[in-house]
Amino acid sequence: MPKDYYQILGVPRDASQEEIKRAYRRLAKKYHPDAYKGDKKEAERRFREIAEAYEVLSDPEKRAQYDRFGHVGPEQGFDFGPMDFRRAREAFEEFFGPSAFDEIINLFFGEGARPRARARPTRARRGEDLEYRIKISLEDAAFGARIRATVPRLVSCDRCGGSGLEPGTGVRACPTCEGSGRIQYRQFTMLGSFVNVRTCPECGGTGEVLEYPCRKCRGEGRVKEKSELSIVIPKGIEDGARLRLRGEGNAGRAGGPPGDLYITVEIQPHPVFQRQGADLAVEVPVHYGQLVLGGKVRVPTLEGEEELEVPAGTDPGQVLRLRGRGLPQGRQRGDLLVHLKVVIPKGLSRSQRELLRKFTDSLPPPE
Ligand SMILES: [Zn+2]
Ligand SMILES: [Zn+2]
Repeated sequence: MPKDYYQILGVPRDASQEEIKRAYRRLAKKYHPDAYKGDKKEAERRFREIAEAYEVLSDPEKRAQYDRFGHVGPEQGFDFGPMDFRRAREAFEEFFGPSAFDEIINLFFGEGARPRARARPTRARRGEDLEYRIKISLEDAAFGARIRATVPRLVSCDRCGGSGLEPGTGVRACPTCEGSGRIQYRQFTMLGSFVNVRTCPECGGTGEVLEYPCRKCRGEGRVKEKSELSIVIPKGIEDGARLRLRGEGNAGRAGGPPGDLYITVEIQPHPVFQRQGADLAVEVPVHYGQLVLGGKVRVPTLEGEEELEVPAGTDPGQVLRLRGRGLPQGRQRGDLLVHLKVVIPKGLSRSQRELLRKFTDSLPPPE
């Protein structure tokens, strides 16, 4: 049977809000853990009951529902935890001063019952995987490199060794569930009320809370850190490749293994070379005469400048190939494709113009 909230507060069913509030304050004071001379457990049970009764009867909507059905509907899912007594807190503190209610909650449920972070992380869990992108140069992609990178991640707290316990302190049984990890609560539905069991929200089901959480990690066992990592870029890596660094992700919880770190590699555009798969392309300026007569031109490569023989009678737009000067691909390397770009000379002298005119006039008309 659902409890009779009016009986609990000792007020008639037509009591005014003022009467309800007065009754609640009087009883709350009576069962205050500092004042009550009897059994503390009994005081706690009664205090909870009083707060719950007030919580319902002080809210006109809930009170109307309670009056009609004898209980509060399922959608409210009435499930009082120590933090749920908003109205009861307000009415109490209005009279007994700020944080007076919280003090009682702390006395009853223990200080450890309030912040969730104090639950002892006893279930070993693997750390999360992390994803980052890094930009590398074309040279580093071609020849491989060791790159230093700063990676924000969670590492095991060095103050508590990941336990979350302030050094020199231990754990104690969770005061809310008395170490069972589960709490019972009543659920009211249109079909009646049921006693349900759920995981204790204070300790997360472990049945234990920290006596004192570690001051550095606040009981989490892990802290944020910007870790300097040395990342090995293998020779010939492709744009968009994903590297997996085992165990370099977030630290695990409660002795669980760390996660992995995935690094996506982005090859930055190069000022001189364009990538075409394993081949590289480069543009080299030449004079018209060099194409006609042939000769050597200097060509930039990833390894430095090299000489390239331009055969006599090479057409502009023809692509010459420097074999094995492209990007590594497996054991092989692509080629360097040399695009010859004819540069038209400007500002010729009178004699240069004369020579060029004579030469041009001597040629048959182009086909
Ligand atoms: Zn710590
Ligand atoms: Zn608990």
